[in-house]
Amino acid sequence: MVVENAHIVPVRGEEIPSGHLVIEGDRIAAVGPGPAPYAPGEAERIDGSGCLATPGLVNTHHHLYQWAAQGVTPDGTLFEWLVASYRLWARMDAEVVSGAATAGLAWLALSGCTTSSDHHYIFPKGRGDLFEAEIEAARAVGLRFHPCRGSMDRGASRGGLPPDEVVEDIDEILGATEEAVRKYHDPSFGSMLRVAVAPCSPFSVSGELMIRSAELARSLGVRLHTHGAETADEDEHCVEQFGVLPVDYLDRLGWLGPDVWLAHCVHLTDKDVRRFAETGTGVAHCPSSNGRLGAGIARISDLLAAGAPVGLGVDGAASSEMTPLAGEIRMAMLMQRARYGPRALTARQALETATLGGARCLGREAEIGSLEPGKLADVALWRLGGFHAAIDDPVVAFAYGATPPLARLLVGGRTVVDSGELRTVPGDAAARAGADAHRRLRTGDHV
Ligand SMILES: [Zn+2]
Repeated sequence: MVVENAHIVPVRGEEIPSGHLVIEGDRIAAVGPGPAPYAPGEAERIDGSGCLATPGLVNTHHHLYQWAAQGVTPDGTLFEWLVASYRLWARMDAEVVSGAATAGLAWLALSGCTTSSDHHYIFPKGRGDLFEAEIEAARAVGLRFHPCRGSMDRGASRGGLPPDEVVEDIDEILGATEEAVRKYHDPSFGSMLRVAVAPCSPFSVSGELMIRSAELARSLGVRLHTHGAETADEDEHCVEQFGVLPVDYLDRLGWLGPDVWLAHCVHLTDKDVRRFAETGTGVAHCPSSNGRLGAGIARISDLLAAGAPVGLGVDGAASSEMTPLAGEIRMAMLMQRARYGPRALTARQALETATLGGARCLGREAEIGSLEPGKLADVALWRLGGFHAAIDDPVVAFAYGATPPLARLLVGGRTVVDSGELRTVPGDAAARAGADAHRRLRTGDHV
């Protein structure tokens, strides 16, 4: 496949105002100015005139099952929203997860996402294989997928926030997590699926589960993910229960390091910012979710200046309803500027967090996140004609305005979106699957 005449932002390397990409198999073979110097035999030629080519976007934090539980407690705090949501989530089964994940991943693809993580941490007994259901959905939609086997073991009777009926036993959790890694995790270059280990949060998980999860992940060679320092309520809970703030608590449990990425990290001290940079701990920044729950504005500019890996995530879907990933670029930029002034985060820096920054969080910066020869051909081609054409700088047009339509989205050279339409699963069927999952969860007839 050959793309020509596009404005190319490789993210690493010089921007090319009118250039080409040559794609052979699942890799990028060449990137440069002007027309392609050669085309592989029988190559499909795409005219990228008026288009912006970026690396495919990387989503570093999500809970796909929540597509079926959107619109709950629209004006509540995180803890109020969670308490209202737990009972609804307890009704979930594999069919709900399948429909919700299909809709959520299709929606991500339509906003330029080529790699997504997911954090799934509720496994009601006797309701089918929920983890497999979301993996099947990712295969169908055609995205690179990093499902995180989540868990909760500290219910209300042990001082945790969730009701006891949605938590699991610690040995059960660790056994199921190890099985998921052995069954699905593919560490190879170009992998479509990598599993991470992901206890849910300090207020729903025991210290023992955090420590043993980290040991398990490190013995299996997989990454670690959890929520951290999201709200002021969480600060209070940690000080009350553990005598320290969330990042000190995570540090004590062995949860800072280059194999860890954490969602949110809104409430950080100066020392925390330095520790993230020194240890290479990644941050999944989810600005819409933080805004929706009134959690605050994360110190992204400070984290980037210190050299910490920062990616973007849509979170949700129930804590930031239907958030498109490309829209988080704009949201991240605006929220940083609202707090730190107009030079806090440029459009190009925000685009970098959504691509290479996310790849760093997932440990895949050698494979994805930039357009360079030898890397995987995960490419988003955005159409900047029409209303976007009144802005000269294509990156400013892309990041400041409404998200432009996708001319093409490639995952490993395979077309997932063409002219704004999904090519792997029908878009209307994916939307219907999400709505059906919502009805099934709401009515609870299957329970
Ligand atoms: Zn989350």
